[in-house]
Amino acid sequence: MEVMRIARALTNLIEAFERLPGIGPKSAARLTYYLLGVPQGEIEKFAKALTALKTETVICSGCFNVAETDPCDICSDRNRDKSLICVVEHPLDVLALERGNGYRGVYHVLGGVIDPLHNIGPDEIRIGELITRLHQGSGEVKEIILALNPNMEGEATCLYLKKVLSAKSEGLRISRLAHGLPVGADIEYADEVTLSRAMEGRREY
Ligand SMILES: [Zn+2]
Repeated sequence: MEVMRIARALTNLIEAFERLPGIGPKSAARLTYYLLGVPQGEIEKFAKALTALKTETVICSGCFNVAETDPCDICSDRNRDKSLICVVEHPLDVLALERGNGYRGVYHVLGGVIDPLHNIGPDEIRIGELITRLHQGSGEVKEIILALNPNMEGEATCLYLKKVLSAKSEGLRISRLAHGLPVGADIEYADEVTLSRAMEGRREY
């Protein structure tokens, strides 16, 4: 018996899905066959959204966030405090912090963290650009908030940044997010790093 031949259009899409993070062959096939049942109009909307993802976005030359315009909405907002820069790894982190709605400063997207195991050194991420920002534009930068993930690479990057930033700018305040316990977490189950961070970041009550 001959093995069933799958239409080329289907295998193409299955392969495309499989290249996405977190999608295995089974999920890829399931998504593809699901889309077969979706009306053509919906499919076209989906395809258009996918294309626009790259053609209708730019990287802000100020903060390196993904945006519709350069400079982005945040950098061009007169009400944002330009003397306060929050340093993050990815544009997705900006999104998360903006959802919190309490931050009124601006951002700097590094585009990665120092990771010697994967050959990512300080020159591979936007540290030079951050240093340049310290001394350009109107008004001095007063504080840098390091909002990197509390893992080994994040810690190494924070240490490096602290060293180079304080050498470049006297009187610059460098702070870190207080990593605490997530809401709903049990102290009993929290890992050591989270607990010691939560203790360090404690505030007056
Ligand atoms: Zn920007």
